Amino acid sequence: MIHASLVCQGCSGTLYAVATKDGAASLPTWKVDHDHTPPACPLRPLLPLEGTAAHIQELPHAEHVLTQPA
Ligand SMILES: [Zn+2]
Repeated sequence: MIHASLVCQGCSGTLYAVATKDGAASLPTWKVDHDHTPPACPLRPLLPLEGTAAHIQELPHAEHVLTQPA
């Protein structure tokens, strides 16, 4: 499961998100990071976002990193 069109609030760079789910797990494990590491992004210490959650917006710091859907 790959989400497109995620944008970093810090640098307006494109982010990719990958969710993996093994057979026994009820929730997917996410990894969200910059497509291309930016030279300077104030949110770099927060990335990549990694964690287990039903929705990408539920990851720690997601509200600070991901732009909100219009
Ligand atoms: Zn960024």
